[in-house]
Amino acid sequence: MTRQRVTVLGATGSIGVSTLDVMASHPDRYEVFALTGHSRIDALAQQCVVHRPRFAVVATAADALKLAAQLKAAQVPTAVLSGEAALEQVAADADTVMAAIVGAAGLRPTLAAVRAGRRVLLANKEALVMAGEIFMAEVRKSGATLLPIDSEHNAIFQSLPVGFVGDFERAGVRRILLTASGGPFRTWPIEDLGNVTPEQACAHPNWVMGRKISVDSATMMNKGLEVIEARWLFDATPDRIDVVIHPQSVIHSMVSYIDGSVLAQMGNPDMRTPIAHALAYPERIDAGVAPLDLIQVAQLSFERPDARRFPCLGLAYQALKTGGNAPAVLNAANEVAVAAFLAGKLPFLSIADVIAATLDAVPHSAVSDMNAVFAADAEGRAAATSVLASR
Ligand code: NAD
Ligand code: MG
Repeated sequence: MTRQRVTVLGATGSIGVSTLDVMASHPDRYEVFALTGHSRIDALAQQCVVHRPRFAVVATAADALKLAAQLKAAQVPTAVLSGEAALEQVAADADTVMAAIVGAAGLRPTLAAVRAGRRVLLANKEALVMAGEIFMAEVRKSGATLLPIDSEHNAIFQSLPVGFVGDFERAGVRRILLTASGGPFRTWPIEDLGNVTPEQACAHPNWVMGRKISVDSATMMNKGLEVIEARWLFDATPDRIDVVIHPQSVIHSMVSYIDGSVLAQMGNPDMRTPIAHALAYPERIDAGVAPLDLIQVAQLSFERPDARRFPCLGLAYQALKTGGNAPAVLNAANEVAVAAFLAGKLPFLSIADVIAATLDAVPHSAVSDMNAVFAADAEGRAAATSVLASR
């Protein structure tokens, strides 16, 4: 079997580490082509020692020197590169790319992999939120294979008919049911949410994730971003997408059919399952995940999301319906607000206010190419930063 040469964008993050864990158990199938990291140079060096990639990419020339020195001392032959162009190059040159950089920073390299027609495993949901329509047009144009890593979208992909391309009527698909855990604050009295700390917001009850997505889960903006992600991945209009709170995070999402069937994908909350699914698709490989013990789980429950508790979810639906630059502005404002919250400069409950004020401040415009997407991102960041400053 020829081995897939895999680039892991964002190797030092939560998804990156899980990806390397799955790949390391299948050395007959996968070969690490390139690893990229942004701030944790020591962790990236350690990964290079273990996985021996052809290339490692960091952000700055100074970090590249530091990493190269560590690798030389460890006698690791990995070539060290730096900067945006290098990220795009290692994304375009691999067979398979795990797109696991967090936030808007992941868009350019992910798009480079798409344009090169690669097999793209998409964790970086922000790329689709920002550029959905254009991104999917690029996928169709290049013939790239796009496989969802987000557990919900991977579950939906597994529960849809093979080859589904948005033909809801013909496939007899009624709706997509996105499940959400409700995060750490689902049952807290709303008046207690004013003083929550970043540590409390990042303490997710079921999943261990990076800090930005953990805060997004606590506000439920994560689910809002996922609604937009589903809209583009499955060509689903917003009225075809429902959100259901399911606190146990055992059902990862569902598809409802016109004959009354509801197909669900279930499993322990461990991202190695969707990662292994997408790496091996259409085959199956061992992900290192314990089998689901239904007796242990015992109960599956469901509730409707509370719009008052989770205003970010409504803001995301609104941005999706508005279209044009609104989703990119929503995403940019969210990144700015979450960073401010994590830095202790914005109360948790004000995250939604900053996003709403930013959406109001930036005039609506159409988005017809990638330049317009990047302009909307920049405008959203600038507007959110001035909203923050004026508080
Ligand atoms: P993380 O914060 O743990 O890791 C982020 C990675 O991106 C790190 O390797 C970091 O070095 C890199 N990075 C950060 N800023 C960068 C920049 N400006 N340029 C280049 N690289 C940069 O995040 P994560 O939890 O692994 O999430 C990664 C992506 O996967 C996000 O888009 C997230 O929404 C998505 N996702 C994560 C999970 C999860 O369980 N962690 C689940 C579903 C989707
Ligand atoms: Mg998810």
